[in-house]
Amino acid sequence: MPGRGFWKRKKREAQRIARERMDILFGLARDAALRGDMERARRYVWLLRRIGMRYNVSVPTRYKVSMCRKCNAFLISGKNARIRLEKGRLRVECLECGYVRRFPYRGDKRGGEKEKKKRGRGGRHGG
Ligand SMILES: [Zn+2]
Repeated sequence: MPGRGFWKRKKREAQRIARERMDILFGLARDAALRGDMERARRYVWLLRRIGMRYNVSVPTRYKVSMCRKCNAFLISGKNARIRLEKGRLRVECLECGYVRRFPYRGDKRGGEKEKKKRGRGGRHGG
């Protein structure tokens, strides 16, 4: 007989599976888009979104950047998207429907350039 934590655990398990499926769909969408099969890519994006909604799992930002919210196109920089870094923000423009989306962008530590250290030696305080 299921205990009290049963459904909670069940939900977690479902969300874990949902995330895995989203990963797979993202990969499939990217492959399809790179092949030029944009309709198929769109379909995968749509499915990915649906899974997220159904299981109440938010789509990771790194995925959102590659998906048009409006037309579900899989966005590839230089192909059907224009991605630019504005001041502290990532600006993603879908060239298929013209939808523009901005994401807060913070210089993540992982695998990026480190902030340049200023050389100045002055013992200035405040600022
Ligand atoms: Zn679009």
